[in-house]
Amino acid sequence: MPTNFFTNLFDSNNPYFSAGVGVLGFGAGLAMLRQGLTRGASFARRRLIVSLEIPSKDKSYLWFLQWMSQQSLRRTHQYAVETSFIQHDNGSVSTNFSLVPGPGTHYFKWRGAWIQVQRQRDSKMMDLTTGSPWETITLTALYRDRDIFTELLREARQLALAKQEGKTVIYTSFGPEWRPFGLPRKRRILDSVILDKDIKEKIVRDVRDFINNGKWYYEMGIPYRRGYLLYGPPGSGKSSFIQALAGELEYNICLLNLSERGLTDDRMNHLLSNAPERSIILLEDIDAAFTKRLAPNQQSYQSTVTFSGLLNALDGVASAEERIIFMTTNHVDRLDRALIRPGRVDMKEHFGTATEHQIRSMFLRFYQGEHEWAEQFVDKIKGRGISTAQLQGHFVFYKNDARAAVENAESVFHTW
Ligand code: ADP
Repeated sequence: MPTNFFTNLFDSNNPYFSAGVGVLGFGAGLAMLRQGLTRGASFARRRLIVSLEIPSKDKSYLWFLQWMSQQSLRRTHQYAVETSFIQHDNGSVSTNFSLVPGPGTHYFKWRGAWIQVQRQRDSKMMDLTTGSPWETITLTALYRDRDIFTELLREARQLALAKQEGKTVIYTSFGPEWRPFGLPRKRRILDSVILDKDIKEKIVRDVRDFINNGKWYYEMGIPYRRGYLLYGPPGSGKSSFIQALAGELEYNICLLNLSERGLTDDRMNHLLSNAPERSIILLEDIDAAFTKRLAPNQQSYQSTVTFSGLLNALDGVASAEERIIFMTTNHVDRLDRALIRPGRVDMKEHFGTATEHQIRSMFLRFYQGEHEWAEQFVDKIKGRGISTAQLQGHFVFYKNDARAAVENAESVFHTW
């Protein structure tokens, strides 16, 4: 009978039933213990341990790796090499290799706290803008040491910035973002660029005034941006001046070539609105992008930016971010008036062929104190439409010999 069968089965006197309950009870106990341990561990992790994730996309990722290469790692067998360059005063470059923790888990002690570093590389995910594998660094420390992360990142940042001190970083566009191009260059001093009387001072004063008046622009509801156009023949010092200006202001330069292959209106717009802080955006040879005649087979190299796209990008969305744009051209007459109207170009300066003042100043910069020779040189050269770049070439050729530079003054017109 089924009733009897079940009654027998659950009968506490049934030895099989008792053993079954015992095994079940033991299993349940184990499961509870395991659950308890897992909960305890996650509780401990939550309450006793802190971790910080730094994705490779973040600025502090490289800062951290650089900083890390200076710490002594324990129990590490897996290093990765990071090559850096040192530029000396004379412009020569030497290479330095530093070892940074490779993918895996590493430990080190910093300011009395133990820190675990996990560097994970995701083989399936790619950073599409760089083509490099996606990486994450996770730092873990005890909860009581949680403040250490902020200090550590601050130190890493300072270390990275110290390396750029006294240098101008040139950024170029890389996909939709700005990337440092080559090594940070030694700042060019403003005195090394010789312009006609007062031009330099006038521009520097204007830019400084703009930088110091953000609040005024904000209160007036005017977009906080300023555009400059430097025009004149090649070799008149336009690019050199912008570089020296950036050095003087301790700004960096974002160089955008409008003729660049694959540059679209959207990308240009994005780049102009998302330049790194404290940087001057430089659009060189602004006329070239729209007037260049290309042979049909070169068509694919033509950029796809349109003139109206450029105007839109210059007007941009009104944002609180400051934006300083310098444009240069050798052919101001080819520029559409719409481009150089105030708001897009607020200040225009002509960089012409060398004036008497420039010839004299440049001569005296190369041959200090040689005033008599300087006057003779000026008399021979003035008014003949020589560029400052040509003059520089001449003085470099006759370096340390003012007399030879004067006696061979005519050659300046024939060597170019
Ligand atoms: P641009 O941008 O007008 O074509 P660059 O600034 O590229 O001219 O100048 C080319 C070279 O000539 C640089 O090496 C620069 O040092 C030198 N040069 C040109 N003009 C000047 C100037 N006014 N003062 C000092 N150097 C100059």
